[in-house]
Amino acid sequence: MPPPLISLHDVDKRFASGTLALQGVSLSLNAGEFVSLLGPSGCGKSTVLRLVAGLDQPTRGVVSAPALDAAGKVGTGLVFQDATLLPWADVFDNVWLPLRLAGVPRAEAAPRVAALLAEMGLADFASAHPWELSGGMRMRVAIARARVTRPSVLLMDEPFAALDEITRQRLNGELLSAWQAEPMAVMFVTHSVMEAVYLSQRVLVMGARPGRVVDTVMIDAPFPRPPGFRNAPAFAAACARLSASLEVAMATSD
Ligand code: ADP
Repeated sequence: MPPPLISLHDVDKRFASGTLALQGVSLSLNAGEFVSLLGPSGCGKSTVLRLVAGLDQPTRGVVSAPALDAAGKVGTGLVFQDATLLPWADVFDNVWLPLRLAGVPRAEAAPRVAALLAEMGLADFASAHPWELSGGMRMRVAIARARVTRPSVLLMDEPFAALDEITRQRLNGELLSAWQAEPMAVMFVTHSVMEAVYLSQRVLVMGARPGRVVDTVMIDAPFPRPPGFRNAPAFAAACARLSASLEVAMATSD
């Protein structure tokens, strides 16, 4: 078995304020895997993501991402709850940005950008600015931008939490299609049990104070997962299993 793309070994993170955000966290993400971090607010999900992205350092323990280090910064795509688009740039330029920063000229980047915009239903919006787009469309642009370098890992921090339920479900489906179309691993932070079940192969359940991984739940349903998967008995069973685990996690957090 090849080594995991990302691993945390016995990681603690204590902030300068004294808050012990993570204690003894060990986890891994393999190439091509879709893994969600599920847990109540404040259990350290975003902190894990920031450590994995290299935006912060652990207080103790080891964070390793050798494959990403080798690929340089373009090895990781980041998507946050806020789409964080450049307001003065149009959709094309927003999506091109990571390639531009990597030195890829506009003409060379154009086919990749255009293909992503077409795939995400944004072909007619290449010249639109962020303020002209709905929240769902802005998030599609953010995802296209994160994918434009063909990263081996997409790190997503509650990307759909601010969207209405219908848009959120649609984007869940689009994300799975994207994940199946191009080989990449996804680490997805959510506090929604249903979202975690719909998307993931594996869910890491976290508890708070201090943040730690308290359970791992495999979601065995095959892919592709059509929207109807949400009505399947296997979906309900996985939601029940995960909810029970989350309740235990919350009961043991003070
Ligand atoms: P989650 O993403 O699960 O909501 P976070 O990782 O954002 O949780 O936060 C975990 C804990 O660490 C919380 O108690 C939060 O208040 C604290 N925390 C997060 N970032 C900082 C920081 N920069 N300085 C101090 N405390 C922080």
